[in-house]
Parts: sequence; structure tokens; C-alpha cells
Amino acid sequence: MKMRGECICGEIAFEVVGELPKLYQCHCSICRKQAGSASNTGLIVKQENFHWLLGQEKISSYVKETGFRSDFCFKCGAVVPNPFRDRPYIWVPAGALDDSEPLEIVAHICVASKASWDKQIPEELIPFEDMPTLTELIDLVHANANT
Ligand SMILES: [Zn+2]
Ligand SMILES: [Zn+2]
Repeated sequence: MKMRGECICGEIAFEVVGELPKLYQCHCSICRKQAGSASNTGLIVKQENFHWLLGQEKISSYVKETGFRSDFCFKCGAVVPNPFRDRPYIWVPAGALDDSEPLEIVAHICVASKASWDKQIPEELIPFEDMPTLTELIDLVHANANT
């Protein structure tokens, strides 16, 4: 499996290879601001399965004192992948990917703090009221991963 992604202006590009994890969607207030929408949808990809193809020097980085980090293209402002805290994984914004074929959301997190107008959480998925631990989240998205 190989999937390409890029920012809006196309000057930053990357690819994800190998077994693809499931997606998770975070509804917390910071992810809402980062995405400019109801939630942020991400993949947590193993470091060895992630490669920059283009424009890594065009990335700006913002790190909040809580450890939240947002990397983005300094030309078009699109959110781009960044290292997943201190773990050997890369967080990839799902919307940056050009293909979406076998991808599937497995978890909705921080639903207790979702926006009042956010009505789109499907009932068949068990929601997490808050943020699970990083280990819980990694295990969750990699269990029964798409191959
Ligand atoms: Zn760009
Ligand atoms: Zn969040």
C-alpha cells in the first residue's frame, strides 16, 4: 500500500507506505481550531512507513506548552504531518492524503468537549469522552489495521 499526500499549494508532499492504520477523529477545542472545523482526522503512522517527498524545508512549526504541536506549510497554511510526541510515529492529517480508499475511522475522541453544532458522531463507534492515553490510541488505530 502506498498513499501520497500534499499541502494545498503542492510544495510539500509526502507518502505513507505499508500497513495503513485506522483513522481517529478528535473533537477537542484545539483540534477544532487547527482544522477550522468540527474535528481533526488523523492517522498515526510508524516512522519507517513515512517519507517526505518534497518541501520539508517549507514547514513551519508551532508547539504549545502542553506539547500539542502543529506543523504547516508556510506558503499555503495547510496542516502537514508532524512527529507524534515522543513516540516512533508520525501524525498525518487524513485530509492531506490524495487517496482515501481503504481508510476508515475507528475512534472519536474528546467528544465531551465537542462543539454544540457537531452532530456527526456515528452511534456504532464507541466514543471516548476525553483523550485516551497515547498508548491506548496507538493500539486502537493499529488493531486490525488495513493491510
Ligand atoms: Zn503549501
Ligand atoms: Zn484534539
